[in-house]
Amino acid sequence: MPASNSARVPDTEVIPVPPLNLTGQFAGIRDELLRELTEVAASGAYVLGPKVTAFEADLARYCGTQHALGLSSGTDALLVALMALHSGPGDEVIVPAFTFFATAGTVARTGARPVFCDIEPRTFNIDPAQVERLITPRTKALMPVHLYGQLADMRALLDIASRHRVPIIEDAAQAIGACDTAGTRAGAFGLCGALSFYPTKNLGALGDAGALVTNDGDLFETCRKLRIHGSGHTYYHEQVGGNFRIDALQAALLSVKLKHLETWTVARRARAARYTELIAAAGLAPEHVRPPAEIHGRHVYHQYVLRASRRDELVEFLKARQIGAGVYYPLPLHLQKCFGNLGHKLGDFPESERAAAEVLALPIYPELTDAQQHAVVRALAAFYQQ
Ligand SMILES: *Cc1c(COP(=O)(O)O)cnc(C)c1O
Repeated sequence: MPASNSARVPDTEVIPVPPLNLTGQFAGIRDELLRELTEVAASGAYVLGPKVTAFEADLARYCGTQHALGLSSGTDALLVALMALHSGPGDEVIVPAFTFFATAGTVARTGARPVFCDIEPRTFNIDPAQVERLITPRTKALMPVHLYGQLADMRALLDIASRHRVPIIEDAAQAIGACDTAGTRAGAFGLCGALSFYPTKNLGALGDAGALVTNDGDLFETCRKLRIHGSGHTYYHEQVGGNFRIDALQAALLSVKLKHLETWTVARRARAARYTELIAAAGLAPEHVRPPAEIHGRHVYHQYVLRASRRDELVEFLKARQIGAGVYYPLPLHLQKCFGNLGHKLGDFPESERAAAEVLALPIYPELTDAQQHAVVRALAAFYQQ
């Protein structure tokens, strides 16, 4: 149906658009996954082992790094990277004020101070222009996030990091496959990158899992030990680590899914472009909503995030029409109760605060149909016509 007809479709027609479609993805690759499940179950090797080693090789190849280390979650990948750098009390780690909690939560767990930085409003990512003046002799690392699947401004950040000799840990949890114009992929720019395979991520396990990717052999060896309580040889411990292991089953399933990731990413990008087109055709932008901008290389659209006026009312309106819109994230980190001790107040990071008030994620996944996308944009149009 041409976009120009969309306004004539009766408002009463309800096409449900769930926020995710994980079971739809499973149905498409059911046999491949069940074969792996049976094989792992029959092998008796349930934690680490050959399936994990094979997945790590596949993942390193995909990300364009020399090493990949399978871990228990994306959060643990960030934590292990910080532990490997001996992050602790007295240290500072620069993070965006607008991100998922784990970015700063892991810093605080090591005893270091998360030093918040405001974001660049077009990309929602850390603003390099504000990073430099936050660097002190205590700065242990910079931790940019590639939020929603778009790279942070890595060129500017790498320049700052190298001038100050501070390592970069990329929080690439939402950005597997995102790359710059030279083809360098998320996680491969800094000292290391943390990936998450939480089920809703672009590459999702059937449970929790994550990974660290790096080109640094020493860091890789250290993290490998930290994954099993800091031991190189069983029961001999060089540093205090933890249980950060990945299950063989998750690794085996992820190897299967990784083969489909490029196809899924292309499908996500096509759906993102379609939303932007339908929103423009409906005359909603830029007055009522602002679609996402692709500024730094290939955006992999973990989320398709608009800025929307009257955002909270709109979320309720969409819910009533069975459209699963989401808000990532409603409260910036400097205003979280658990970081009250850091002494921040409303107004400290205005772009982060504005983003928290305006962002709205529309449902996006490879299985999303054109009819569903029309239904979403019709609902947006109906809301702003009221
Ligand atoms: C999902 C996510 C994480 C944490 O990953 P888990 O696997 O859920 O622990 C960290 N940072 C960001 C930006 C994320 O989106």
